Amino acid sequence: MDYKKIVVAGSGVLGSQIAFQTAFKGYDVAVYDINDEAIDRGKNRMMNLKVRYTQDLEATEEAVNLAYNRISFYTDLGEAVLDADLVIEAVPEVVEIKKTFYQQLRQVAPEKAIFATNSSTMLPSQFAEITGRPHKFLALHFANEIWLNNTAEIMKHPNTEKTVFDEVIEFAKSIGMVALPIQREQPGYILNSLLVPFLEAAQMLLVKKIADVETIDKTWMIATGSPKGPFAILDIVGINTAYNIANAKGEAGNEEFKKLANVLKSEYIEKGKLGTETKLGFYSY
Ligand code: NAD
Repeated sequence: MDYKKIVVAGSGVLGSQIAFQTAFKGYDVAVYDINDEAIDRGKNRMMNLKVRYTQDLEATEEAVNLAYNRISFYTDLGEAVLDADLVIEAVPEVVEIKKTFYQQLRQVAPEKAIFATNSSTMLPSQFAEITGRPHKFLALHFANEIWLNNTAEIMKHPNTEKTVFDEVIEFAKSIGMVALPIQREQPGYILNSLLVPFLEAAQMLLVKKIADVETIDKTWMIATGSPKGPFAILDIVGINTAYNIANAKGEAGNEEFKKLANVLKSEYIEKGKLGTETKLGFYSY
């Protein structure tokens, strides 16, 4: 693995974190976004990240300034990807936006460049053909607050070349991530394949009035030695996200999820209880 220049497409919540972390670990990073306003928002996010890195990681001011200075910003995709070794796509989680992006990217990216998607819910095979280089394409999925929650799930699709997979694993390690190789496509990767059904099971116990929030969490924590129970985790994830997942399943015809979505909406969201973000959720903070 001899990557020198990394491009991050999209400077939103995750893109700005990926770019900053990568620069913090010494790479030259080019950030691409659609217009000057989006770039300005991305720069602001990175200014906030400088503060978080000094607070959370005790990084020196010199180190965070150096990181920021390694990042260049572009609204022209062709200029951004000049001589790129790896392009990490963190554009919105909308199929059509991602497809259009890859159609543009394939026309301007150098042949050597590997493409990686940070998509949380889509599979790389959905975009493999449209990238024009399916063998050099895969998923590289980070968690929010990448400098603290430093997992990188690296997932192949059937035509990803093994050397590409191995190189991206090495790259993830080189930017301070714990690399988690995923050998076959799986919606939700490893984490959400485990977490989503677990959190849903807990919410169903509540909706069916089997036990209250505290009892369910206490059971899990004491019996397994876990520091948090499912409802404490849900407060961190955010009740809006829990609602969106339940609502989608409800709309697809599942009656139990319809009921759960209604409870989350009327008892939590409409009362401003969105989780730790609002200091109120299943618990008060
Ligand atoms: P976001 O909405 O915060 O940011 C998206 C950015 O992409 C914005 O800056 C927007 O201007 C830009 N953009 C829009 N169209 C573009 C285009 N055609 N080309 C380049 N940039 C474009 O979204 P986010 O939360 O950062 O999510 C981005 C990706 O990361 C999604 O695929 C999402 O599933 C994934 N992800 C998000 C999280 C999370 O917790 N937010 C965690 C892991 C992965």
